[in-house]
Amino acid sequence: MIPLIDSKKQFQSIQDNIVEVISEVVESGQYILGTKVNELEKQIAEHLDVKYAIAVGNGTDALVLTLDAYNVGKGDEVITTPFSFFATAEAITRVGATPVFVDIDPDTFHISPHQLKEKISPRTKAILPVHIFGQSANMDEIQAVAKEYHLLVIEDACQAFGATYKQKAVGSIGDAACFSFFPTKNLGTLGDGGMITTADEQVANRIRRLRVHGSNQKYYHQEIGYNSRLDEIHAAILLECLKQIDYWNERRASIAEYYMNELQDVPELVLPAMLPDRNHVFHLFCLRSTSRQKIIEFLGHYGIQTGIYYPRCLHLQEAYQNLGYRSGDFPIAEKVSDEIFAIPMHPFLEVENQDQVIEMLKIASEKN
Ligand SMILES: *Cc1c(COP(=O)(O)O)cnc(C)c1O
Repeated sequence: MIPLIDSKKQFQSIQDNIVEVISEVVESGQYILGTKVNELEKQIAEHLDVKYAIAVGNGTDALVLTLDAYNVGKGDEVITTPFSFFATAEAITRVGATPVFVDIDPDTFHISPHQLKEKISPRTKAILPVHIFGQSANMDEIQAVAKEYHLLVIEDACQAFGATYKQKAVGSIGDAACFSFFPTKNLGTLGDGGMITTADEQVANRIRRLRVHGSNQKYYHQEIGYNSRLDEIHAAILLECLKQIDYWNERRASIAEYYMNELQDVPELVLPAMLPDRNHVFHLFCLRSTSRQKIIEFLGHYGIQTGIYYPRCLHLQEAYQNLGYRSGDFPIAEKVSDEIFAIPMHPFLEVENQDQVIEMLKIASEKN
């Protein structure tokens, strides 16, 4: 079997270090919001060149706490993409605001900046672009619209740790950004974890308070908050992973380059667009084909795992029936969700296995 993602191999490559730091945490006697979390926040802020990094329980909470910290809530609208993991929109709804979707660009799968302005209303508070699959959204255009209309920009960088846009790390461009350390993300841990980055001191302090029950000082609560913290164990593991992340991202990029070269002339396959002004970290490597079903079945027959990210757009989810969207409202996102599929991509994918994937893709598309 050639798996789509192999988090286990990634963690096993540093297993001895992981076991050692877990023992350190056990012996430290500090398990929640201790020195490892402080150190991780400091190192991530340095790595991304941002002022503040605040660790939270997971990527979804990162989005929820950020929106809450900016007082985005009831009656507000947040513009986002219909083509993302559900949590992007869910967080907006969770704080009481309404997601307003804008169709995507068919080549990059990002929110289309040209259609943003039409969706801005007096209720719009923020734009929430997603750096989908590991490549940055069109931040200059998004920032320009946000500036003109005095909107916040909150980056959903859950799939894109280490990606850059015009030499700047994602997470250092908008007003704030949210990361996830779910095991399969390019920077992940052995469980759940998340991080928020921002240059705004007030917002950073508010998030630090929100994550511990709205409390600045133990047992004194200034507001209603959350219980959303990163465990010391996960911070310790992430500190080890952080040492590897540049290498892991480089490996992903070179595997992607090989796919791009080998698959460029295969009929019926549309390759992912890689833009010259940004560095793609390939959380996933996604192709498009109108013959998707046949191709994934053929690959599956030969033990090659594929995945569909995402089979249903956010505006068409059952949970969002109340928003009144219909199929056809965002034709590009819907077409992409009908055609897209991911092929094996992880830093430890061996060249023989990658060659097998390529060969089977070539045979599968000739058969169509
Ligand atoms: C994974 C992910 C999230 C949620 O992160 P969790 O840590 O699983 O809560 C949010 N947005 C995007 C785009 C994601 O890929």
